[in-house]
Amino acid sequence: MSKIYVTGLGPGAADQMTIRAQKVLERCPVIIGYTVYIDLIRDEFPDKTYLSTPMRKEADRCRMAFAEAEKGQDVAMVCSGDAGIYGMAGLICEIGRDYPEIGIEIVPGITAASGGAAVLGAPLMHDFAVISLSDLLTPWEKIERRLDAAAAADFVICLYNPSSRKRADYLERACEIVLKHKKSDTVCGIVRNIGREGESCEILSLEQLREKKVDMFTTVFIGNSATMELNGRMVTPRGYRDV
Ligand code: SAH
Repeated sequence: MSKIYVTGLGPGAADQMTIRAQKVLERCPVIIGYTVYIDLIRDEFPDKTYLSTPMRKEADRCRMAFAEAEKGQDVAMVCSGDAGIYGMAGLICEIGRDYPEIGIEIVPGITAASGGAAVLGAPLMHDFAVISLSDLLTPWEKIERRLDAAAAADFVICLYNPSSRKRADYLERACEIVLKHKKSDTVCGIVRNIGREGESCEILSLEQLREKKVDMFTTVFIGNSATMELNGRMVTPRGYRDV
């Protein structure tokens, strides 16, 4: 039985890919994914058949994966970060109901939250909520409710998809909701191009974050009430020193 391996590549750099993901890419003759991710691995695996569809054609990309697997070959469906966090794992499982003869295996990867946290220091040492600001698949009202609830409960908040050309002011709107519950000097961090060329990070206050323009290759971290800046690092104390 041929299989689809839904594979998280990690944030970018080859050395942040798991050995299991590496082995899957070696094994599969066909690799399918959004072009930006394929470009990250093409040099390392030059002899593969690469297939792609434009962004927002995710269901087509999944059907393409099943069509290739039906020809009797293993397929790697690649995503950045973790395949099961705003990745393709869910849709492959859903569409897979129509293809019971094809196996599915999910191969996890380092997600932007953990990759970016390591760049900033240790912001996710305590309970945190991950929220995507993309309203392509989630109504904005629901995103607002989740931001409000997470901020009210003093979670550290990690924001994916903080901006795009059409959603230039979403981060500002998100910060305004969070500011209803968190202080304006709450320690925040942004990380751009995690594990990729041009990786950069900045630590700033929630007030400054509200004014900040970020792009879609950025992950945003909003601290909880105990988060500190320590020697240039964003650190949320776990509480060991109080025990
Ligand atoms: N499956 C991915 C997330 C896809 S959603 C994962 O687990 O990481 C896309 C969003 O993830 C981007 O808008 C950005 O907020 C974040 N992201 C993914 N890769 C990133 C990287 N290398 N650097 C910074 N942010 C990244």
